[in-house]
Amino acid sequence: MVKNDEILNQEEQHFAGAGRVYYFDVVIESGKGAILTDVDGNEYIDLLASASATNTGHAHPKIVKAIQKQAENLVHYTAAYFATSTEAKLASELVKLAPGNPDDWMVVYGNSGSDANDAIIKFARGYTGRPNVVSFVGAYHGSTYGSISASAVSLNMSRKIGPLLPGFYKVPFPSPDKRLVNESDADFVERMFAAFKEPFENYLPAEETAVIMIEPIQGDGGIIAPPAGYWDKVASFAHEHGILLAVDEVNQGYGRTGTFWSFEHFGLKPDLIAMGKSMASGIPLSAVLGRREIMQSLQAPANVYTTAGNVVSAAAALATLDVIKSEDLVAQSAKLGQVAQNFFAHEKTQFNFIGDVRLYGLNGGIDIINPKTGLGDEQATNTIIYNLFKNGVLMISLRGSTLRFQPPLVIKEADLQRAFTIIHQVFEDFVNGKLKEPNGRHHIGW
Ligand code: PMP
Repeated sequence: MVKNDEILNQEEQHFAGAGRVYYFDVVIESGKGAILTDVDGNEYIDLLASASATNTGHAHPKIVKAIQKQAENLVHYTAAYFATSTEAKLASELVKLAPGNPDDWMVVYGNSGSDANDAIIKFARGYTGRPNVVSFVGAYHGSTYGSISASAVSLNMSRKIGPLLPGFYKVPFPSPDKRLVNESDADFVERMFAAFKEPFENYLPAEETAVIMIEPIQGDGGIIAPPAGYWDKVASFAHEHGILLAVDEVNQGYGRTGTFWSFEHFGLKPDLIAMGKSMASGIPLSAVLGRREIMQSLQAPANVYTTAGNVVSAAAALATLDVIKSEDLVAQSAKLGQVAQNFFAHEKTQFNFIGDVRLYGLNGGIDIINPKTGLGDEQATNTIIYNLFKNGVLMISLRGSTLRFQPPLVIKEADLQRAFTIIHQVFEDFVNGKLKEPNGRHHIGW
């Protein structure tokens, strides 16, 4: 038996299934840049970095060095009980990432994207004195009770654990599948904005609503952005009614979409910003940036977590920002994103099972459809990602039938082209019925 199987069989005895979405029978041993190596020595090109939390790639030397240096000096579960220069420096760097004057913003730390979104809910309620929270169908805001209550992307997230928190309402997201045949962008925006307003006109008093939480580009929902003009309308509505606007940048922030924040694509001016995942290049850390007066609305220990903002995470986060800047990774994401856009657009002209293709920087959702019905084909998607895996490319699916393309932003163009060659071959083999059927723990959708 190969080592991969041995370890997975052993782990399966002890590790409960609800804690992981199994995609591959693989145990990762090491990583360098965009390449991961398993315990049997097989190499994979990592195209799912935003899931594995490394926009800066695996084992970036500058980040490794920063973690080592900090660990030699001090490892402690600050910043819940006292300040350190590392954490203080990070706070001063993070406020500079907010729009406008850094002095207008403050920050709190967390350990995960989920608790960052919980913090948003707390501060929004604390500041406005209002109970209700509005979010979008297709949103993934996290796995704690607050952030699950704002999420709506998988029944398994809320199945059997209800009731979820009261005061949470969902509105439809203007995703491509909602668009009528030949509907113009302007008409689509109008119709979806009318649907957005419907709850507020019928049962949800706007003046009792604290916050509208958005993923400007939905990540786990399929890498989907609304047409131009839609977010402006939502933002104006929030503004008119004294409702805060919170952006969840946990998945799409930190350069992923070719701008530092995904909300920059839409000219939004959020009141609260959640970040996490890649902000410390794989070391647990999240944060919320909020306007000063909002962040001063609660007192300790309303949002204290013992390990949040600890020095090692903070050192990794500072090094991450340094790498993003010194290696110009935001521009790199835009540049290589264009290369990827050209590749997938070309594949779409070759293969009729490729539906909508959406890329924003090195970040994409590629729908796999049944050409006869035009509907998403989960089984085909699953077969494709299994065979990509067997050929050394790690990709996963979103909502069952969308290929998720999110390589580390440091990926070398040669590795990207190597991945494209393999993807093209797997697409061709799919058409010719030559792909292997998935087996083992391989997972269909979620
Ligand atoms: N928000 C978004 C947009 C996410 O994609 C995720 C993770 N998929 C989260 C929040 C939750 O982050 P975490 O898993 O670190 O709690």
